Amino acid sequence: MRVKLARVAGFCMGVRRAMEIALEASRNAPKPVYTLGPLIHNPSALALLEKQGVSILKEIPRKGEGTVIIRAHGAPPSTIEKLKRAGFSIKNATCPKVVKVQMLAKTYASKGYNCVLIGDKGHAEVIGILAHAGEKGILVSSEEDIEKLPTLNKYIILAQTTQDRKRFEKWCKKILEKNPGGKIFDTICDATFRRQHEVRRLAKHVEAIVVVGGKNSANTKRLAEIASECNAFTLAVETAEDLDLEKLKNFSSIGVTAGASTPNWVINQVVKQLEALPGKKETILERGTKKLIRFLLEANLMTGLAGFCLALGIGLILRLGLRSIIGACAAGGYIYAMHTLNRLLNREAGRYNDPLRANFLTIHQKALIGFSIFLSILSILISFYLGENAFLMYLALSLLGALYTARLFTDKKFRKKRLSLSGTKSFFVPLAWSIVSVIAPTIDLNSVNQQVIIILFALAFAIVFLRSALLDVLEIHGDKIVGRETIAVILGESKTIKLIKIVAFLTAITSLALVVWKITPIGVICFLPISLLFLLLSFKLKGEAIGLLLRLELFVELNFILFALLIIILKLIGIKLGFKI
Ligand code: SF4
Repeated sequence: MRVKLARVAGFCMGVRRAMEIALEASRNAPKPVYTLGPLIHNPSALALLEKQGVSILKEIPRKGEGTVIIRAHGAPPSTIEKLKRAGFSIKNATCPKVVKVQMLAKTYASKGYNCVLIGDKGHAEVIGILAHAGEKGILVSSEEDIEKLPTLNKYIILAQTTQDRKRFEKWCKKILEKNPGGKIFDTICDATFRRQHEVRRLAKHVEAIVVVGGKNSANTKRLAEIASECNAFTLAVETAEDLDLEKLKNFSSIGVTAGASTPNWVINQVVKQLEALPGKKETILERGTKKLIRFLLEANLMTGLAGFCLALGIGLILRLGLRSIIGACAAGGYIYAMHTLNRLLNREAGRYNDPLRANFLTIHQKALIGFSIFLSILSILISFYLGENAFLMYLALSLLGALYTARLFTDKKFRKKRLSLSGTKSFFVPLAWSIVSVIAPTIDLNSVNQQVIIILFALAFAIVFLRSALLDVLEIHGDKIVGRETIAVILGESKTIKLIKIVAFLTAITSLALVVWKITPIGVICFLPISLLFLLLSFKLKGEAIGLLLRLELFVELNFILFALLIIILKLIGIKLGFKI
């Protein structure tokens, strides 16, 4: 099935932030941890929070202990005071955009202005904003409310962040006609609008639309209404289990969108389930290709292939002849084995990042472990051809990996320790890749220029670091849920993306300079396009654009295949033109 995911779907910035604060509190804040009312309108996310020990506080007791998280809608200052007096610690997850409206209400009310708020009666956000305006707050939730407005001299008009802009503008006009001189602040958040705009766009390109989100989520319901208005067959589901696959089979293309409170892992599961469905016009070849790609990714074979290609490319740059292929086989096998075992250990995070892969790993666990051990042993044996030191290097690396894995399978305490060490994963992975692809094939050779080896080691490290960091950003949700401290979790998404951009840019510039100044063989120029491609991918990495995120892993691994291909092409050109590359 051809599945198109809305460019903007799922968690908005405020909800995402609230979720992250709640997950962080579940690990580090004083226990028990509560949210004041449901954090978001999504059963899967609430079930997850419950599992992490975050429950819902329905009423404020006279005495309490632990932590209370104020949700994205915010709360009246008196409620927060009451919670503090009862003895709770407070984690305020009010969305910054809601805080801005609260502050406007507070500031203008203190200057004697009336604050007219256009919003829905009884909504938590509205209650919170009005409370900040105190006696100066006036709610307008219908046209009748406008008629009933008293005469206002000094006043401002604010909007609940999720209001419809057309209605807001119409009502503002009416209020101003009745009471001229009011100051308008358009405080509507465009997160909802952007999702609605995107579903209209999507409807033009697909035959059916699946809207993912909680049954009680107002913005999810609105997305489903818009999709129907656009004449697309619309199906609203809470999870992948609700998909009516029999009906959906009759289409050749399906669009997927999701409300602002739908977690990525739920969207992910729906997309993967739909992609596995045979599309009406899909050819056997298309289906076969998709299945093959999925299998290569799920079974981790793409990662092994990426490792093989990096080592092959470097061997060709260094003109190592047969050693290039032997070294690449050993590197590919080793990288495959270590990554597969690591993925098996991190299945818990994988359940949120890529549930179908987690299922695949569970079903084929024994075969994957067996194959990884086989490849690991094979790599050690192959490395014998590269020389004594290379053999010892592989032996040491494989033993370290095996020790690490064996202890993790048995020792829960060690597993906890490892979690706190895992921020270093983004450095250890590039280190291991660079060792097996640059050092191991050359350590037993005297003829290779040491300066070039160091440069290639640094470039390989940078490229694999880009790979790791990009994948860490991709998997940040699941990692945060299970408390894995990857570089993206430690630095935060935007700082990691900035770091990726800097490293990619520097790698591109360096590889170009090295070739221009004839410091390294000409093949080093192939680092330039792949670092630029990583740079391009990092520009596309936006929190809300999960369409790309779902496919990022494939692009990342393909980059390494491209690297090897470019070097082969360059070599062939060199042979044709009669000079050595
Ligand atoms: S919809 Fe806008 S204002 Fe509301 S939580 Fe999301 S980002 Fe914040």
